Formats: sequence, C-alpha cells, structure tokens
Amino acid sequence: MSTTSEVDVVVIGAGFAGLRSLHTLREMGLSVAVLEAGDGIGGVWFWNRYPGARCDVESYDYSYGFSEELQQEWRWSERYATQPEILRYVEHVADKFDLRRDVHLNQRMTQARFDEEDSRWDVTTEDGIRCRATYLVMAVGNLSTTKAPELPGLSDFTGRILHTATWPREGVELNGQRMGIVGTGSSGMQLVPIAAQRAEHLTVFQRTPNFSVPAANALLSDERDAEVKAHYVERREAARWSPSGLGFKPNKQSAKEVSAQERQETYERAWNGMGFGFVLAFYDLLLDQESNDTAADFIRAKIAEVVHDPQTRDKLMPVGFPFGAKRPSVDSGYFTAFNRPNVALVDVRSDPIEKVTATGIRTASGDHPLDILVFATGFDAMTGSLLRPQIIGRGGRTLREHWSAGPRTFLGPFIAGFPNLFVIAGPGSPSLLSNVLLSIEQHVDWLAALLLRMRENATEVFEATREAEEGWVAHVNERADATLYPKAQSYYMGDEMPGKPRVFMPYVGGVRAYRRILEKVLADGYDGLALTAGSGMVRTGS
Ligand code: NAP
Repeated sequence: MSTTSEVDVVVIGAGFAGLRSLHTLREMGLSVAVLEAGDGIGGVWFWNRYPGARCDVESYDYSYGFSEELQQEWRWSERYATQPEILRYVEHVADKFDLRRDVHLNQRMTQARFDEEDSRWDVTTEDGIRCRATYLVMAVGNLSTTKAPELPGLSDFTGRILHTATWPREGVELNGQRMGIVGTGSSGMQLVPIAAQRAEHLTVFQRTPNFSVPAANALLSDERDAEVKAHYVERREAARWSPSGLGFKPNKQSAKEVSAQERQETYERAWNGMGFGFVLAFYDLLLDQESNDTAADFIRAKIAEVVHDPQTRDKLMPVGFPFGAKRPSVDSGYFTAFNRPNVALVDVRSDPIEKVTATGIRTASGDHPLDILVFATGFDAMTGSLLRPQIIGRGGRTLREHWSAGPRTFLGPFIAGFPNLFVIAGPGSPSLLSNVLLSIEQHVDWLAALLLRMRENATEVFEATREAEEGWVAHVNERADATLYPKAQSYYMGDEMPGKPRVFMPYVGGVRAYRRILEKVLADGYDGLALTAGSGMVRTGS
C-alpha cells in the first residue's frame, strides 16, 4: 500500500467480519483495503492464544455460511473448535478466496475524518499511511480492546505478566511454575483447568463467581459430519430465523409451566449436551425471575456436587444476579480443578488484593508467591475498539462525543452524523447475544444489498436520520428493560470499565426479530436512512 491511496471501501479489522466484508464487497467490483493492527489475520482468534481457548458455539455454526463449497470441504474435528483450529480455518478461507492481497497488516487506524466537501473518509494509521475512501466499515470486534486492572505495585513484580488476550505466540512454559490468574470470566474459566494440570501451583483470584455450564465437547465422527453436511443449507436457514443464531430449536415452554420433575429432566438434558444452549432450556429464563431461579438453583446444585472443600464451594457459588444476565461460561472441568491439591481460590471481595509485590500478590490474608501472573480480566467491551481511534463525523463531532452517554445507533450499523460509516455486529445489534458469526454475515449481506441499491439509484451517501436513531435507541432500551439482563453487573451494561455509561448495549430482541426488522427497513425503501448523491461523483468500482 502506498503512503496515500484511494479506494471505494476501507475496512478496519481482518477478523471474521473484515474478511467477509472484503470478499463480498470485492465481488461487487468495489476496491477494498483492509487495515489490520495485528501482524496476522483472524481477529480475536489471532490474539487469544491462551491454553484452553476454544469457541463455545458449535463449529458447524461458528463458521461462514456464504459458500456451500467452503462449508462442504472444511472438516471440523471437534464439536467446539479450539483456537488453533479456528485460526487454521480463517487462513484457509483467506487463501481460498485470495483475500490476503488486500489486507494490510500492522496498520492500526488512529483517525478517520469525514470530509464533507466531497463525502469521503480520510483514514490515517499509526504508521502514517493515509487512505481515502467512500465507505468506512468498522469490523473491529466487540471484545478486542483488552483490560488489565491497574493493581498497585504491578511494576514491582519480577515474574512474568501476561494477558489471556495477548498470549505470546510461541506459548508459555507453565510446568513447574507458580501461577496466578486474576479473573474468572470465560477466558479464566477455560485456562484454569489446563493451568491446574501444568503449573506446580495455581492461585485463582476471583471477584465475582459466575455461572458456567459444561461444554459437552466431543470429537466429530465422519457420520456426524456427513449428517450435518447433508442438510447444511437448512441448518443455516434455521439458525438465521432462530432467537440467537444457533443451530438448534429453542424450547417454547416456560420453566414455570412444567412439573418439577419435567423441569429437572429438561435441565439435565441441557446440562449434558447443549453447552451454551442451556440458556434456551426454557424460553423465559431471561424474562422471568422465578423461572430464572430454577435454572440458577440447578446450576448451584451441580457446582455443590463436584467441589469437595466446603469453603471453596461457598466461594464459587454465583449468587445475587440472574443466571445468564452476565455472560455465563461454558467450561471443561473448571469446578473440579479446585479439588486438586495444587489449586487455591482467593475471593478478592472478602480478601482484597492490597498490592502486587516483587514476588507475588499480597491480599489482606497474606502473600501469594507467583512466578507468572495472568490477567484474564477481559475487555473494554463493545465500544472499546470503536472509541479508541478518533472518528470524526459531520461538523467535526467525534464519535466519543456522540456516544458520551452510551452508544447510539440506528439498527446497529448506522450512526447519525457519521455518513457512509457502517459498524458490523456492534452495539445496538444482536452481536454478543447471538452467534456473532451469523450476525456478521447478515450485516455484510445487508450492506452489500444497500450499496447495490444505491448504485442503481445513483446515490452515494447513506446516513441515519436523527429521528431513526432516536427511535432505535429507545427500542433497544425498551427491549432490554423487559428482561432480566439489567439486573446483573456485566459488560453488556458497560460495568466492566470504571466510568463507562451504564447502558444496555446489544439488541436483546433476538436474531429472528432483528432479521424481520432489517427486512422491513429494506422493503420500506430504507426508511430511516437518508440516501443522497453526495458530491455527485458516483463511482462504480475500479
Ligand atoms: P470477562 O468475561 O469480562 O471476565 C473478566 C474477569 O476478570 C471477570 O471475572 C472480572 O470480574 C475479572 N476482573 C476484571 N477486572 C478485575 C479487577 N480489577 N480485579 C479482579 N478481577 C477483575 O472477560 P473474558 O473472560 O476474557 O471473556 C470475555 C468474553 O469473551 C466472554 O464473555 C465471551 O463472550 C468471550 N469469550 C468466549 C470464549 C468462548 O467462546 N468460549 C472464550 C473466552 C472468551 P467481575 O466479574 O467481577 O467483573
């Protein structure tokens, strides 16, 4: 890429969203440049290389559905794919569709400014590359700006400090090490069982015990593979019209309308085979507190069954918030790891961290000597990577200003005052409450259809109207307020970052309802979007 270049579309990020955007938009004859901060493709799957990292959506669903040839030829080995296997898949897709030639690695976008004179985005990277484009597609992911707690004394630590989301590519020797893990979200819960086996001693520093359900992972047999592939098109279509984009049917019953025995049996079946789908064991688990309590009690009883030490068991019990309202984890042996003699649990609410010392962590109760300190503390979720660069829209207004009270969008992708900017699977859309891969593909297809329509109509600029944005923000809040989600402290609400506005960010109405809304907007001639000629220079690709 030359220092200054001009393309139809600049895409930020070369993860699943960025690569799919590149493929589809290039097929339309548009010139596309993908700018990626990392030195490899794959997004979260490029960065999150900690031992145990795997997806908790089934491989058959957490994969692209746009190419029948691709989905038939790729052979997943496990029901839930590991990070290395997913990265191999991404590399395969990039090679198959010749994507790499338009991906520019090591290019972190620092600024994007909308030039109102000729309706173009001016994009600048840390390296000083300047790129001018008609359209700017933000494919930056919802969980990509890491969060490390600023513990006092951290710089005094003489051992190794790691974050699960920036795990060294060459791996880390854990054997014989005294290891500490801060954080027990999905990443921490996946790392703990493996660290427990390898490290000489493991201390887990937990702030909030969370709910988790077993992954029920398994190798995929040739028979199973053939069975899925024989009906892959139908499976994808069913997922597109399901509540969360997963490839199985949700239960339409309420947890309260069945007998205690039937409820128990339903939970047992879900527990032993549905992984993350456990949240759909009954349709009202996130709508009705009483129904939710039945699921929460079931999971707490399961934890109590496996953890031997009564004090550790008590500390691991998730209480005080509804099951599922804070993202539950899907684990393989997390709770049983605490039965090992080399694993200790520190509850930092009752035994707070005072400081990091040269040799470990000091809590109120004493010193915990460590050679390796791992932060599994997650991300500045959903808005972190959208607000880190400076995005400047009409009238010099920044996105940070526009979103000072929380993210405001029309349908998710569109932001009033930021023409020709499209955010893929971000705030205001099902995003993190869905199979995000399916949501990514939905957005890219929808963007492609919009750009085709605009090309036919000789318009070049799309922009959400203020009224449409206002209406969508109200709708997103209204739907969230009708659920149990706001009752938990979670990254869905912005609770993970001190000072972040407390607003429910994803769209909770479900994948199916959201698809209907997008279809209606399209049928109504893109109601809510102003489509204009812009500078009058309609380009048809290069
Ligand atoms: P996370 O869910 O946000 O968990 C962060 C953990 O760090 C929480 O336990 C949090 O405690 C703790 N923490 C944060 N700041 C702290 C502090 N100052 N002191 C002590 N503890 C602190 O992050 P994550 O585990 O990386 O997972 C993020 C998301 O990535 C997941 O929810 C999931 O969507 C995705 N993910 C998916 C998979 C998968 O597909 N299997 C795997 C990994 C991640 P609090 O709860 O008290 O805030």
